[in-house]
Amino acid sequence: MTKHIQNICFKAALAVCLVFLTLTVQGQVIVIDPGHGYKADGSNPDGRTDTEIATALSVGLKLRDQLNSQCSNYKVHMTRTTRNGWISISQRRDMSNSWGANRFISIHCNAGGGTGTETFWCNRSTSGTTANSNFSQEVQNRMAAGGSWTNRRSVEDATYIYHLGVLNSNNAVGVLNEIGFVDSNDKTKLLDDSWRNKFAAAYVTALKNSLGTSTCSPSTTSILIQGESYSSAPYVQTEACSDTGGGLNVSHIDTGDQISYSNVTFPSSGSYKIEYRVASLPGGGTIEAILTGVVILGRVNVPATGGWQTGWTTISHTVNINQAGTYTLRLSAISGGWNLNWLRISKVSTARMATANMEVAEVAEAPVPYPNPADNELSVRFAGTAASGKVLNSVGQTVLTLPTLASDTPIDISSLKSGVYILDMVIDGKKVTKRFIKR
Ligand SMILES: [Zn+2]
Repeated sequence: MTKHIQNICFKAALAVCLVFLTLTVQGQVIVIDPGHGYKADGSNPDGRTDTEIATALSVGLKLRDQLNSQCSNYKVHMTRTTRNGWISISQRRDMSNSWGANRFISIHCNAGGGTGTETFWCNRSTSGTTANSNFSQEVQNRMAAGGSWTNRRSVEDATYIYHLGVLNSNNAVGVLNEIGFVDSNDKTKLLDDSWRNKFAAAYVTALKNSLGTSTCSPSTTSILIQGESYSSAPYVQTEACSDTGGGLNVSHIDTGDQISYSNVTFPSSGSYKIEYRVASLPGGGTIEAILTGVVILGRVNVPATGGWQTGWTTISHTVNINQAGTYTLRLSAISGGWNLNWLRISKVSTARMATANMEVAEVAEAPVPYPNPADNELSVRFAGTAASGKVLNSVGQTVLTLPTLASDTPIDISSLKSGVYILDMVIDGKKVTKRFIKR
């Protein structure tokens, strides 16, 4: 701490001083360099495969988003943010130097029929060989583990001049990582969206370890999560988004779909506002937010916005977090038919905690059958530990007796005829009923 800041601290009230220090813990500048790209006219100056061009960009965008949500005090830049954003090697290096980067990651995919991941560093970087070599080894280890790759090597390689141009004379501690091979079985993983999230997460861990985990702090007021940065979402798709800021949104969200975001940190207990950026042609959707599949936080309804890509609007609800921590946040489509661009979680004043608590209790009591209507399988979401019960037809006859089951366990209803049924359940000793439709 400098003398000047010490003096200010001694003179100011403690609270003011802490705020000041928080705001001054800045300085880590990260530059993400997705390799290659197409030019604006569609030409491919480096002649690389679309697999490499697309994977590098996708993983780069995910890395940016994960860093922004986890280490909002880092300043993150990208050399290319679009498919047709080709720039030269020397431009990339000059951008990094002009931004004053502390760390530089160039993202590529290998070719030549091998398998696994490898990382290069350059002994002509102005930031010194030890720092570059260590960072390269860290990226290599994290990518090999996080991507379940064959661990090829971390190496200084002066022969790959074409690639190393971005590292040569780069003032940042930098690496060039070849995630996997475009022309072997690796390709399947390179093109898989959930693997791409893991590749980005591996870079995040490597960056935090290299810079020191204490340099990374999430915003204490708000985090923004891109919809498409989910850790799991089996049945949805993504598409280009017309909302402000562009990028991708999550689409094809049907009733019963589950979209999960891992590593969402709530820095303290209390009330949080969760906002969702949505568009929907028909409206009538319902989003339910759930922590690690157990605690139902609450629901919010999605209005019709005039189209799937028009009238993007922000809807929100206030929820209560009982315990600070890092969770998987799951969005459940109680009713589908909406697109999601991003969600934002903000700490709100504790004055509303009582209200939020009541809301949670109310929602938690109701079991939710999904999908509804259902075809051959029906699951029931509830907040208790175990439930038993039966399914009644429209005239009150028992048509199925259910075993004791946990929340979200699929029930085989293939024997039921099409129609309306009553789900009659006992959850933790309390009797509850709910209607569902068999298609
Ligand atoms: Zn490349």
